[in-house]
Amino acid sequence: MTTPALGLPMAVPADGLPARVRIHEVGARDGLQNEQVTVPTETKAEFIRRLAAAGLTSIEATSFVHPRWVPQLADAEQLFPLVRELADDNLSGKGLHLPVLVPNERGLDRALGLGATRIAVFASATESFAKANLNRTVDEALAMFEPVVARARAQDAHVRGYLSMCFGDPWEGPVPVSQVVRVCRALLDMGCDELSLGDTIGVATPGHVSRLLGALAEAGIPVAATGVHFHDTYGQALANTLAALQHGVTTVDASAGGLGGCPYAKSATGNLATEDLVWMLTGLGIDTGVDLGLLTATSVWMAEQLGRPSPSRTVRALSHKE
Ligand code: MG
Repeated sequence: MTTPALGLPMAVPADGLPARVRIHEVGARDGLQNEQVTVPTETKAEFIRRLAAAGLTSIEATSFVHPRWVPQLADAEQLFPLVRELADDNLSGKGLHLPVLVPNERGLDRALGLGATRIAVFASATESFAKANLNRTVDEALAMFEPVVARARAQDAHVRGYLSMCFGDPWEGPVPVSQVVRVCRALLDMGCDELSLGDTIGVATPGHVSRLLGALAEAGIPVAATGVHFHDTYGQALANTLAALQHGVTTVDASAGGLGGCPYAKSATGNLATEDLVWMLTGLGIDTGVDLGLLTATSVWMAEQLGRPSPSRTVRALSHKE
């Protein structure tokens, strides 16, 4: 077997899909925080520079959570200044953003103090995960985020609201759509600019995605403010992405090389790999601005740093040597 001569699929557009998709790259944050190995700060900075050079324009850089919770990202204060200028520099002419995760007001202060202009908060659609991850009820967690979002907005920072367990929860099983709609509404009402619907344990299937996006549209939640964050635990992430695109979603989260398993689903495969996503979108004739060859080379390099191969099918296929 040989890989395709050009390293890209033939572009055959399909009806009813967006012309362009914005990939929200989470490898440096969601990916590395779920890896066993803690990567040196300079390696992380180099990773982010390479992602930017590959054409990604929305690169989540790190997390300002307490180092005790996420020791892999304990160097946020050292890392962010090393990459901050990428966001100002506007390398591609398309606007490059480096959002950072903040768990509370103290995290917000640290992020804004270092010049972050985009932040993300992390809510849960289920009580069990809110309790496990934040030690709060869903509503207590929302109340905790309210001043964070208000203060970020007051400083003109863009705010993304992550919502975990939108499809299934390891303790509660399937998650009712109405429950997800309620928390999405609350996040937008408190001032979040965009949402990211997380399938944290990877159990979503395309019909479920359609149903949730239909219910969100019915509730008046703009699809332009709705991103999706699928995990490939059961091999469904691309099918789910296609279902979301058919509903008009144009923001898709992915992790270079498929970095990051999921601590709540004991499996090697977590985040949708950015390369797998770019392969499908390129084949559909959808513009992403990403150079798949450069991105794949970046993931091969990062896999070497981590000492294990990338789980991404596309990375493996494109980097396969005879
Ligand atoms: Mg994830």
